[in-house]
Amino acid sequence: MDMENVTPNVFTNTKLRGCNPSFVTTSDGVVVIDTPQLPTKAVAMRALAESHGPIRYLVNTEHHVDHIFGNYYFRGAGAVVNHQGLYDRFMVVYPELDPFAYAYESIPGDSPKGTDLDDPEALALWPDRDEYYRDPNKGAIVFTGDLTLHVGDHTFHCLHTPGHTPGQLAVHVPEERVVFTGDTIFSGCQTWLMTSDVPQWLEALVRIRTLDVDRIVPGHGPVVGKEYLDVQRSHLEAWVAAVEAAIAKGWTRDETIARVSFKDQFGPVDIGQGYMLDYIQSRNAAALYDRLTGSAPQLTAPDGRPAPVATC
Ligand SMILES: [Zn+2]
Repeated sequence: MDMENVTPNVFTNTKLRGCNPSFVTTSDGVVVIDTPQLPTKAVAMRALAESHGPIRYLVNTEHHVDHIFGNYYFRGAGAVVNHQGLYDRFMVVYPELDPFAYAYESIPGDSPKGTDLDDPEALALWPDRDEYYRDPNKGAIVFTGDLTLHVGDHTFHCLHTPGHTPGQLAVHVPEERVVFTGDTIFSGCQTWLMTSDVPQWLEALVRIRTLDVDRIVPGHGPVVGKEYLDVQRSHLEAWVAAVEAAIAKGWTRDETIARVSFKDQFGPVDIGQGYMLDYIQSRNAAALYDRLTGSAPQLTAPDGRPAPVATC
């Protein structure tokens, strides 16, 4: 398991399919922030983290599969810390998305879902559904608002920064001058808006700007500095402006989905999900159209089948 040193005590991996799983070493053990989605990587990262000391806490930044599924492989390793808004949605099966099936279909990489299951080690680690749901390792410490953890010589401010998801957290570690934002930042890659409240998201960026940090570990893509907050803001504002303009021109929902796209402007999809580039464009446009027109989301495909809503 290769991990990048953001600082001597901060480790992350920005090159996996899934989120950027991370951990921080302290004088009294380790704090994990998000877990690898892929089982082999989750097992490997746990072993590496524990080589630095016992895991004290595991903090998740959001409820999307790519940030929480790997918790299963961290059972017994420290207390899981979840915001209430995350905890309430933890691997919950909705008509439009079965997160357990989605996690399975995501093994291992950059291919249409379910057609390239060539990671036999991951399959050997795969629990059956009942076994998984008996203990998916969701929050033992559940809170609203913000929460501060003290571990050894380090402080972990878990800041409620909703927008991308309702239970979104940013984890600020002042001693390292680092903040882990989860998917409030998609660095150098496409932004997923499907379950988002963009005005709240913009407020979250403002809050993160107030932190005295040098490095931002985003949910996806390379580690960046605070200057990237403006880039993320510009992507969100461009999406909203484009869909607002479409509505003002009288375009229908389908016309808006067909015509509004930023696939040539905002970079590739994060690692392993290139095949979802068009999907993200249409789903982002649809979600914003529904929100801006106050219409109920349409969760079925034109042929009447439930439309799966992959999330990131
Ligand atoms: Zn994500």
